[in-house]
Amino acid sequence: MAKLVILGGGESGTGAAVLGRIKGYEVFLSDSNMITNEAKELLGSYEIPFEEGRHSRENILCADVVVKSPGIPDSVPIMEEINAMGIPVISEIEFAGRYDNSRKICVTGSNGKTTTASIIYFLLKNAGLKVGLAGNIGQSYAYQVATCSYDYYVLELSSFQLEGMYDFKADIAVLLNITPDHLDRYNNEMEGYIRAKFRITQNMSKEDCFIFCADDEISISHLNNIVLHARQLPFSQVKEVKEGAFVREEKMHVHYNDNDYQMFLNELSLQGKHNIYNSMAAAITGKILNIDNEVLRESLSSFKGVEHRLEKVLKVKNVLYINDSKATNVNSTWYALESMTTPVVWIAGGKDKGNDYEPLFELVNEKVRVIICLGLDNTKLKRDFEDKVEELYEASSAEEAVNIAYRVAKSGETVLLSPACASFDLFKNFEERGDKYKEAIRNL
Ligand code: ADP
Repeated sequence: MAKLVILGGGESGTGAAVLGRIKGYEVFLSDSNMITNEAKELLGSYEIPFEEGRHSRENILCADVVVKSPGIPDSVPIMEEINAMGIPVISEIEFAGRYDNSRKICVTGSNGKTTTASIIYFLLKNAGLKVGLAGNIGQSYAYQVATCSYDYYVLELSSFQLEGMYDFKADIAVLLNITPDHLDRYNNEMEGYIRAKFRITQNMSKEDCFIFCADDEISISHLNNIVLHARQLPFSQVKEVKEGAFVREEKMHVHYNDNDYQMFLNELSLQGKHNIYNSMAAAITGKILNIDNEVLRESLSSFKGVEHRLEKVLKVKNVLYINDSKATNVNSTWYALESMTTPVVWIAGGKDKGNDYEPLFELVNEKVRVIICLGLDNTKLKRDFEDKVEELYEASSAEEAVNIAYRVAKSGETVLLSPACASFDLFKNFEERGDKYKEAIRNL
């Protein structure tokens, strides 16, 4: 019996363990941290042996194949040993892809993955297709492959997941954009990050489709230097394209084969320049899959958005509160500020991943009246923005930030939590940051 070792007992690891078990592997799961009770129960119900709080070499180095959680870098000692022995290491997505014959629509990019994957999923469901949603969202792909049966999958893929993929092939690949993020994992080398993102196109043939942003300089310059067999379908808000999607006279136009689709931008349920891109990518996917124009219109105009992404929370005393806690880098905050139509009280800060705030200067000058820094160390924010706003405050909890905002915001203004930073200094994750923010607003 082939031996499968899983490193990491989170959502993807436990899913891969269950799939491995069902497919007849001898499975062992190892996590250097503690595993949740829920995960233990799941492993127990499939009789899968595991360890927590350590990696025991004798149970791991005998593996025929290792499935590694995307969170574990190659530099940890056990990975160095595994690599030195030449044991194949793959990601959960690569592993599950081997047992899945569905048509796969894969979405990657620095920003907008969850939103776009969710729109596409919503669209396919509305079209009556049997479709699953996985990757970075919800239940793991491997667990769903083990327990469900779908004709289509929409997969949200991060660069870390893409790194451990070799034979996997997307039928439709969407690359939304590439901006500096997670460079700490790539030795601050942009080229490595770009190459990881472009792995979404690997193994594609001319029957497959590659959807990408023609306005994204980094994507385009890399694309010009590689050989790609897939059919290329760009989207742009700057220029008109022959096949793909573009904007003309406040309308989104989509061309695919002899198929044509048009929709007014103000009909889109998700507003903001970035969401026009996301909606265009979803619309092209819809046309490739031959989805009815009516279903497309209905879906793109009624999609509710995803929690923590420019989520409208409440209006209190004629001040709108927006939760964009998922904006963990400068680029996503740029799009949030860009979409604001009133003066803004901006709540920003957290764990800085080496941010360069310069791209935000103009928008902050133009739209932001007050900044409330919500982080342990706000030195950089203060240095870069103090002279650009009327008032600047510091808060050390979501509640304190909301209370300050409530006091200083004027009628007609918007309070926007869009931190441009990770949340780990004061919160468990971006969800907790957003939830606490919303709770504080509801308590006003
Ligand atoms: P991801 O899954 O890639 O992190 P999300 O859909 O969760 O992306 O959105 C994350 C943040 O990025 C949100 O704050 C959102 O406002 C912003 N965003 C969404 N789509 C885009 C885009 N196409 N370009 C830039 N920023 C975006």
